[in-house]
Amino acid sequence: MKFNTKTIHGGQYNVDPAYGSVMPPIYQTSTYSQTTPGGHKGFEYSRSGNPTRAALEKSLASLENGNYGLAFGSGLAAIDAVIKLLQPGDEVICTNDLYGGSYRLFKKIFEKFGIKFHFIGMQDASKIENFINDNTKLIWVETPSNPMMNIIDIKACSSIAKKHKILLAVDNTFASPYLQQPLDMGADIVMHSATKYLGGHSDVVMGALIVNNNELAEKLYFIQKASGAICGPQDCFLVLRGIKTLHIRMQRHCENGKAIAIFLASHPKIDKVYWPGLPSHPNHEIAKQQMKDFGGMISFTTKGNRMEDAIKVVENLKIFTLAESLGGVESLAGHPATMTHASIPKEEREKTGVVDSLIRLSVGIEDVEDLMDDLKQALG
Ligand SMILES: *Cc1c(COP(=O)(O)O)cnc(C)c1O
Repeated sequence: MKFNTKTIHGGQYNVDPAYGSVMPPIYQTSTYSQTTPGGHKGFEYSRSGNPTRAALEKSLASLENGNYGLAFGSGLAAIDAVIKLLQPGDEVICTNDLYGGSYRLFKKIFEKFGIKFHFIGMQDASKIENFINDNTKLIWVETPSNPMMNIIDIKACSSIAKKHKILLAVDNTFASPYLQQPLDMGADIVMHSATKYLGGHSDVVMGALIVNNNELAEKLYFIQKASGAICGPQDCFLVLRGIKTLHIRMQRHCENGKAIAIFLASHPKIDKVYWPGLPSHPNHEIAKQQMKDFGGMISFTTKGNRMEDAIKVVENLKIFTLAESLGGVESLAGHPATMTHASIPKEEREKTGVVDSLIRLSVGIEDVEDLMDDLKQALG
């Protein structure tokens, strides 16, 4: 099956065996009757499994060309499950400009339990090797990264991980499986905030993991069940519905993203534009190799780098909504320094380019002329 067909049919039965419903029903139940102790139809309690969640998990696995999918109550709950594979004393090497919430989870929660995190620039993947020692157990990659749109070479990371027998996990939230499939490039774990492009309608918070290896899947499934950060059946239904239009939404996100990136790059008040599709992007060539297109996430800075200017621009936008999050059908704008990345100390964030005037756009699927007019008036 090709990708667009998979979004609609991947991992799904075509009709529900009970009544022939075309969409998987929402099994809003906590428990399942048993004829004799242990005599059930595959489900005993909804923390360990629910048929609506199982349908979504199969769909997620199919989209990422993986064997196993696991859905969690949020993207961070999915990341939390991955780090719980580790033990005190273990070390993780991660992208330095990663999602602020991931940074906070690593620094403020897991460091307390004796896990060490090295935050490094991975635009040149060979640098990873300098940080590997006997305790290194995981490489955590986010590409495109948030909010600087850095591109990291997944295949290069994978060969380093394989050489040293370390797990490679890729946060694929920004790209979505439409644009890139990290398992095919050698990653061991793919993670999504399904809140973003997979759900696609800004109406649900959810996370996902997809893996190929059976042993790894069992360990993660055990953590999902034992720690209990699961999602409810109604939310699974919403994400399944979102996934069915992922391919057409992504196509439009990419088209609109391109038009807006080109427009911003030529605007007199704009200093820098970060979008992997621009030939001026430092890792444009790698983006071309590992991504199908370049997505709808764009960051830019205004000339003079003044916080007041950036805040005025985001306040003046009318069609773009000032809000955290991304990946929905509607266009959003954010100011990372005071919003998504406020939990990262100023010195740390500025080192990675998250300066005071940086604005991040999640370009939606509206008419692009309206989006450009909105940006023009707000910058004016
Ligand atoms: C939003 C996001 C997360 C966290 O996901 P939640 O669903 O908000 O918990 C992790 N990584 C990236 C890249 C994100 O954008």
